[in-house]
Amino acid sequence: MPFRIVLGDITKLSVDAIVNAANSSLLGGGGVDGAIHRAAGPRLLEECRTLHGCRTGEAKITRGYDLPAKYVIHTVGPIWSGGAHGEEELLRSAYRNSLHLALKNNCESVAFPMISAGVYGYPKDQALEVAVSTIRAFLEKNEMDVTLVIFDRESFRFDVRLYSEISGYLRNTYEDERAMSGSGSLLGDMARSVAFGGAAGSRRSIFSPKKKESKACRNAMDSAPMAEAPMEASDEAVAMADEERSAPTEPRMYCAQAMSAPMDLTHALENLDESFSQALLRMIDARGLKDSECYKKANIDRKLFSKIRSDIHYRPSKQTVLAFAVALELDLQETEAFLKKAGFALSHSNKADVIVEYFIANGNYDMYSINEALFAFDQNLLGA
Ligand code: ADP
Repeated sequence: MPFRIVLGDITKLSVDAIVNAANSSLLGGGGVDGAIHRAAGPRLLEECRTLHGCRTGEAKITRGYDLPAKYVIHTVGPIWSGGAHGEEELLRSAYRNSLHLALKNNCESVAFPMISAGVYGYPKDQALEVAVSTIRAFLEKNEMDVTLVIFDRESFRFDVRLYSEISGYLRNTYEDERAMSGSGSLLGDMARSVAFGGAAGSRRSIFSPKKKESKACRNAMDSAPMAEAPMEASDEAVAMADEERSAPTEPRMYCAQAMSAPMDLTHALENLDESFSQALLRMIDARGLKDSECYKKANIDRKLFSKIRSDIHYRPSKQTVLAFAVALELDLQETEAFLKKAGFALSHSNKADVIVEYFIANGNYDMYSINEALFAFDQNLLGA
């Protein structure tokens, strides 16, 4: 997945490079800087001494030593002093320069902490917006796996208005579902798990790969460091997990809107002779999109897209299908037909499905917003 947000400790990540929110001396400090130096061992400080510091907004690279990451990119974010002292541009530069340095060093995967959002005092909501929009602009032109690591839930400030709208949609949809299926209290569960400011979420993180899970496939979906996992294996594992989730215990609910509005594209999608891969390629053409526009919009890795393109019988995961449905800006009925091609359906007893449905129903196809919302509600993100 080209962009993801995860909860955890950046020093545990097996990526090509992790970014350090350093101070300008580069001689170590507190927060994430201290954690990185402790995990990398004393040789990191020795190399840092040879760099003679780093100016705010710039970036320098060292080896990773005892870290699982090959490199550490040290950047210096701005200290917040009210917002009128060029803080935003300096923070954008810190992200941009780190990304370009990673590219120059042939890194395929890089992970960032929320630069300046700790002791440097940058307001967390604004720090998140700057991080996501700068990474996004970079990924529009470059191929790389970029992870934004959120250390604690309090650091993640999701748009309050959107959060309450989605909460309302979830409340209504779950209640409908409960009334119709007689299932247990999903709402209570949901309300507890999405509360902000509480303890770190219950989401299985990518940082504990050794943790035993009853199903290998769930492990791959929820805890695999995506950069390490072969894309096809992870996609298939996710597909298995999806199949489990949509087993008979989970009623498959179709949206009323989707059932009523006939659309040509839906009929075309229901052509049973056409595989998912064929349908996808045909719709990309029909939309007049370039392949790269489509897989980038879908937050899908280029290698995975090539695999889907070359394998007519490719079996995607539900997340992959939904990611392409968003990229193709399908409406709900078309999304249902597209999912059906790959053997899936939107379910109102699946929180992530309802959140995606909320965005599609509102004609909001911004994958970054969708994934931020999924993260805020402790759900797996869309994409490969
Ligand atoms: P800055 O001085 O740039 O504000 P800090 O280290 O104080 O840097 O904080 C930057 C961000 O890094 C904060 O959001 C903090 O919660 C987060 N952070 C601290 N330790 C870690 C860690 N081990 N992994 C990932 N993020 C971390």
